[in-house]
Amino acid sequence: MIWYPYAQMKTLEPPIKIRSARGVHLYTEDGLDLIDSISSWWCVIHGYNHPEINQAITEQLGKFAHVMLGGLTHEPVQKLSEKLAAWLPGDLDYCFFSDSGSVAVEVALKMAQQFNFNRGSDRNVILALEHAYHGDTFKAMEVGDDEDYHFAFGNANEKKRGVVHIPTEISALEDAFERYGRQLSCFIVEPLLQGAGGMRMYHVSFLERARTLCDENDVLLIFDEVATGFGRTGNRFVADLVLPDILVLGKALTGGYIGHAVTVANQRVWDGFWSDDPTHALMHGPTFMGNALACAAALKSIELFERGNYLEKIRRIEEITKREMSGFTSLEIKEVRIMGGCVCVEVHDSQTLQGFRRFAMERGVLSRPFLKYMYAMVPYIIEERELVQVLETMKAWFCR
Ligand SMILES: *Cc1c(COP(=O)(O)O)cnc(C)c1O
Repeated sequence: MIWYPYAQMKTLEPPIKIRSARGVHLYTEDGLDLIDSISSWWCVIHGYNHPEINQAITEQLGKFAHVMLGGLTHEPVQKLSEKLAAWLPGDLDYCFFSDSGSVAVEVALKMAQQFNFNRGSDRNVILALEHAYHGDTFKAMEVGDDEDYHFAFGNANEKKRGVVHIPTEISALEDAFERYGRQLSCFIVEPLLQGAGGMRMYHVSFLERARTLCDENDVLLIFDEVATGFGRTGNRFVADLVLPDILVLGKALTGGYIGHAVTVANQRVWDGFWSDDPTHALMHGPTFMGNALACAAALKSIELFERGNYLEKIRRIEEITKREMSGFTSLEIKEVRIMGGCVCVEVHDSQTLQGFRRFAMERGVLSRPFLKYMYAMVPYIIEERELVQVLETMKAWFCR
């Protein structure tokens, strides 16, 4: 028996069985052809069954699939860390690999806490955002702020004593630093776009102010770009606009092929662990960190991103989305938000979206609205007519 995610198994609608997939299309066992409008939880940026990524993985498979990084190393992981160091902005040069976004967030938080421990500081309060989502492991849940996901562990003021949550408002940010500045070890954010918390978008000026306050108060700034990285906001990384001390990447890192993530530290964080004292080492090591197949897929994915001028593709997606959604409204809709390759229609009442998944399927679109949010995060290789089909389907729901 498979235990499916985020679901009451007793009332779960039978999942759709996929037989094959190519480009933006999923082909179901029942003979349906569905455009995946959410890129399998936002990660399949080049579409399915990409010949070049397939080939990169197959080539590596002929050598070996996996060896541990405990005492061993290999070319794909070396090349990927070199590529990331060169490609990422500033001095984000030190790559700690792991198997999922949640774990990479745990590693980032551990880095920040131990960075302080190593220098004899007792700073241990973490600043985070309201409506944040950073993953489903325990510390990621604590820095997260979403009762809709983690209600069973909710009412956790008790458990969250070491975490302070603020809204994305500069005044709240300044107040928090005023009040907790000397106790803070780090400030963790999903920059510009808060995904699972409801596709909430905010202005870069908030991050610029955060950078300044972090510098003034000696606090590490962590960007969780597991969702926003690799172009989703229209920027390659939000870190290109404001430089964090630690950057977390996941989801699209391997083009959606193999679960993998990376926590990238800057020079200062790295130096905080560089010591003759063995207790200053970072004691973490996921079994599958630096998996060779994942690294081969990631290298090819980044090559495709650069070679295919993806930022231009994403600009086009944003343009078409703005054109198609322009002036669109309904009494049921609270707000339509668009940023880069993300569009979200927030409704007033979650009941409004009951039945939309099926409605979309009948129109050849796979969608997975949650709570009050109907959204699309399409693979970047989508054709204009396919994107229009996705957006027409979203609009049609409100005109039925
Ligand atoms: C999905 C997500 C995570 C968790 O990644 P997993 O690979 O599912 O563990 C963490 N942070 C953000 C912002 C995410 O969107």
